[in-house]
Amino acid sequence: MIRSLIATTALIAVAAPALAQELNLYSSRHYDTDERLYSDFEEATGITINRIDGNADELIERMSAEGENSPADVLLTVDASRVQRAEDAGILQTIESDVLNEAIPANLRDDQGMWYGFSQRARMVFYAEDRVENPPATYADLADPAYEGMICIRSSTNTYNQTLLASIIENEGEEAARAWAEGVVANMARDPQGGDTDQLRGLVSGECDIAVSNSYYFARALRQDVDGLSGDVDSIAWVFPNQETTGTHVNISAGGVAAHAPNRENAIAFLEYLASESAQEYFANGNDEFPVVESVETGEYAASMGEFTADDVDLAAVALNIPLAQQIFNEVGWE
Ligand code: FE
Repeated sequence: MIRSLIATTALIAVAAPALAQELNLYSSRHYDTDERLYSDFEEATGITINRIDGNADELIERMSAEGENSPADVLLTVDASRVQRAEDAGILQTIESDVLNEAIPANLRDDQGMWYGFSQRARMVFYAEDRVENPPATYADLADPAYEGMICIRSSTNTYNQTLLASIIENEGEEAARAWAEGVVANMARDPQGGDTDQLRGLVSGECDIAVSNSYYFARALRQDVDGLSGDVDSIAWVFPNQETTGTHVNISAGGVAAHAPNRENAIAFLEYLASESAQEYFANGNDEFPVVESVETGEYAASMGEFTADDVDLAAVALNIPLAQQIFNEVGWE
């Protein structure tokens, strides 16, 4: 009896590797809170996730260089423009999924099924409450000479700013976008430096009166101790820009199935999982972003910043304006 049991076990051990299910995930998400998201998927499906982290441009380059031999199954980015660049580079493939089409609003996904947005982040205006009496109400206001020398915003090499300017091109046209970028440069408190959190820190240090940042960096400072920020977070007030006009610019963290995905079915299963209610809790709320699935409630800290109307412009159309946005940034000397 014991002998046959051992024999059976041995057989299973030999057979197991052939059945091993894998998913090779190329990710530019940089948030610790995602760990639970991945482990839950692995436990529920038995699929092992092999993660390769890097910035989106590096990952796109790597997938392009690997070509048909690329082991990549899924590419995740933190910005619409980069996932669109991946589509343009031919490294994503079309999938058809009723689950994804039903869960994700049409303006937050590619119409050919090459990529899908899984969380939203608002690009917001923050200000030092005791130093700014009339805060900007719109993105256009950031270019108003009334705010000369007051604004901190990161460099134009940053995708969040590129996509914001690309959305202004889409909504207002090229000339208005160029004038806006010029005006913001004239209003900068300092040369662009650091990430979004550093712009917020500038409000505390007094170097900046107004700062532009994605919503979740501020929500994070409400949730946990962020050095140089959380201690004085009460001195900072915020605005969701463009509430009377286009709505606040939102960007997405997005993903798509790799063109040569060796584990295509697992890749689709993974994307569908990301649109599930439980995954949205981690993917969106874990990083204090706004879920894309309507039935999922916004997490405590993001919700505490208040409700807002988001710009519902088609992000795929916005992403096509990125090269022009970069050109404008260069022309106006936005470092
Ligand atoms: Fe970020």
